[in-house]
Amino acid sequence: CGIFAYLNYRVPRTRKEIFETLLKGLQRLEYRGYDSAGIAVDGPNKTKPDINGNTICLIKQRGKVKALDEELYKKDSLDLDEELCTHFGIAHTRWATHGEPSAVNSHPHRSDKNNEFVVIHNGIITNYKELKEYLITKGYEFESETDTEVIPKLIKYVYDNRENDSITFSTLVERVIQQLEGAFALVFKSRHFPGEAVSTRRGSPLLIGVRSEHELLTEHIPIQYNSGLLKEGVQEKNSYNRSDSSNGINSVGDGRAVEYYFASDASAIIEHTNKVLYLEDNDVAVVTGGNLSIHRVNRQAGENPVRAIQTLQ
Ligand code: GLU
Repeated sequence: CGIFAYLNYRVPRTRKEIFETLLKGLQRLEYRGYDSAGIAVDGPNKTKPDINGNTICLIKQRGKVKALDEELYKKDSLDLDEELCTHFGIAHTRWATHGEPSAVNSHPHRSDKNNEFVVIHNGIITNYKELKEYLITKGYEFESETDTEVIPKLIKYVYDNRENDSITFSTLVERVIQQLEGAFALVFKSRHFPGEAVSTRRGSPLLIGVRSEHELLTEHIPIQYNSGLLKEGVQEKNSYNRSDSSNGINSVGDGRAVEYYFASDASAIIEHTNKVLYLEDNDVAVVTGGNLSIHRVNRQAGENPVRAIQTLQ
């Protein structure tokens, strides 16, 4: 399948421009799978907010990207001219492994009817049956036949059982991937973390393109290590090792206008930027406040503690 996602930080884009960027990305990746496609973008902000006023709108369609394209513009509730200064949109073209090609089985998959967490996935979760059975006993309701759907349900389960409200999006994802077996590239979006992106991979490819009007302050992003869970559900406090790089963690965005592109391969990114970073297995890449950082659980011997931003030729 193909994963594509686009985050604009302090770069005003209309919803229509965001749709066009997402669809163009999917079209470039369509050769990887094309039985269905879908996207998630921010919906209209509610005047009476339940979760900070943020809503997420999911649009999914069986068939080629073209079919999705037609569907997008039928949504009367979405103002195409609305300018979204900071926004994160995710998109997926599917090649079904579990569950027939259909709108409900297509990605993004969601945690619940309020779309608190949505996710796109390339790969196969081999232990999905056990996870699904467990989550059903905890009261989570499934709507699709896919292996993927355990992932948004699991992140909501971790979120619902968080020990404090300051838990970060990346910590949630780190806890989720510790439970997953199989192959995955994943990109997460959440109503609880508007304008933030978390992506990760194990076995399936994923890279991030960075585009900025400013020169990037660094070519190397130091990894932040989390020493893991002391026991189930309890995280060691202050366990992130701030790296010794003088640029610190804010080296890519540094709070300035920047755009990030997440994709299964470079063909969907190259038209936007030639600055890319390839994620390695178990990397968790986080964009928050426009800054990109890479997190991992437990440093392994011999592991490279930085990720380089490369220039594609
Ligand atoms: N296993 C997932 C599914 O069947 C993802 C397939 C893909 O990589 O497109 O929905």
